[in-house]
Amino acid sequence: MAAGRGKEGTEEACERKKEPEEKDEDEEEDSGEEEDDSDDDDDESSEMVGYLEDPPTEEERRLLTRRLFPSKVGGRPAWLIPKNLPTAVPGDLACSACARPLRFLLQVYASRGEHRPGAFHRVLHVFVCTSCQPNEVKVFRAQLARENPFYSSEVPNAKKIAKELKKTGDKDLDLEALCCQDCGLTREAGAESSSCTDCQRCTRVNEPFAVFQEREISTSGATVPDEEDQAEEVAGPDVKGYRPGAGNTSGDADAEEDSTVEEVFTEGVAAEAGEAGGKTQQDLVADADAAIASAKAKGASEAMLDKLREYRTKVSENADGAIDLTEQNVFDEWSKENGESDDFFSKFNRYSLENKGHMLRYAFGGEPLWFCGPRRLLKDPPPCQRCGGARVFELQVQAQLISLLGGSHCADRLDFGTICVYTCAESCDPLEGTHTYAEEYGYVQPEANDAWLPKA
Ligand SMILES: [Zn+2]
Ligand SMILES: [Zn+2]
Ligand SMILES: [Zn+2]
Repeated sequence: MAAGRGKEGTEEACERKKEPEEKDEDEEEDSGEEEDDSDDDDDESSEMVGYLEDPPTEEERRLLTRRLFPSKVGGRPAWLIPKNLPTAVPGDLACSACARPLRFLLQVYASRGEHRPGAFHRVLHVFVCTSCQPNEVKVFRAQLARENPFYSSEVPNAKKIAKELKKTGDKDLDLEALCCQDCGLTREAGAESSSCTDCQRCTRVNEPFAVFQEREISTSGATVPDEEDQAEEVAGPDVKGYRPGAGNTSGDADAEEDSTVEEVFTEGVAAEAGEAGGKTQQDLVADADAAIASAKAKGASEAMLDKLREYRTKVSENADGAIDLTEQNVFDEWSKENGESDDFFSKFNRYSLENKGHMLRYAFGGEPLWFCGPRRLLKDPPPCQRCGGARVFELQVQAQLISLLGGSHCADRLDFGTICVYTCAESCDPLEGTHTYAEEYGYVQPEANDAWLPKA
């Protein structure tokens, strides 16, 4: 696997810190081949992917605390700056749509120190609302110069920090004064309890705290599939009419999409949904076979192929043609929307195959890789609230994370196709009197059709 422990080094984007002399347990593995000069000229074009490490041991957990500038999923946030945190519910950490408490999903350490000294340490903290389906999201950016009141300008010594933490019973007094001891999110100012209101509720009703499993994110260079296949695709008929609503109203981008739609279906499947009932069983099986073959040719994931095979088995076993008509229609629509005619989904699938198991894609200043055609962000993200400058794409959290984290109360409420994070192009510094944590822009592209899309 490409995953491994590539986190030290690689490059500016996701590396933990800067010093070549840094000592680390892993040092024999990355003798610097990744941090050579190849990306000096244009670091913004280099693309990274992130993978989940195994759940940490108690010892390793100490390495996921703020003094070691981790990139991680779940657990309690390792707030970069233990001061002026985003405010507790009903403030910053409440969902903008439903006002319920947000949950800490992940954080990524992504220095921009070479571009802005004030962003030597730079962390994006990502929160989701699991009450909203698909999830709502909020992102907060915190950054510090190398010389700052909170951390030494020297490279942190992991062993020493872990030892200290162990000695103090894993206490971080600065954060403890501000945060819930259970979920790590900000407590109400002046609150008596050391738990937030929501965690107190969980305790009362005997529900687990809303915390995702803690896992370190390791990064490595992305493999970007070439786009030859796409160029060869031929123009086909307009299938817009079969789309169930979402996102087919916009201008240019959609027109473009139409011109590359490929017709791979038999006449039968392309027929109006209402006519599907007239098909013979053989027609249905043939349709399913065609869909499977085409999906394979386009590099669909195993999970997606399983869905298609499942459907084929169903129709082939149904000798009297009594397949549920609703299901038939759902299949037709799904195939039209995602399996075949959606270049975006095909591209997403190819990328996923090339970077198996990744859950994060990082490409500062690049383009998002949309999960599917419908509900892309077709306009510019809103400008930075702090400096008014433009925001650029920085990273996306992939739906693969949902299955990687699956099984917990909290993770089962995750629902998104991809979460795209856009940040201030300049990584502007906080001005006197402004929030220490700058809210950035997160855009959730939902899954197109829950009934048929694979969960992995
Ligand atoms: Zn919500
Ligand atoms: Zn809490
Ligand atoms: Zn800004």
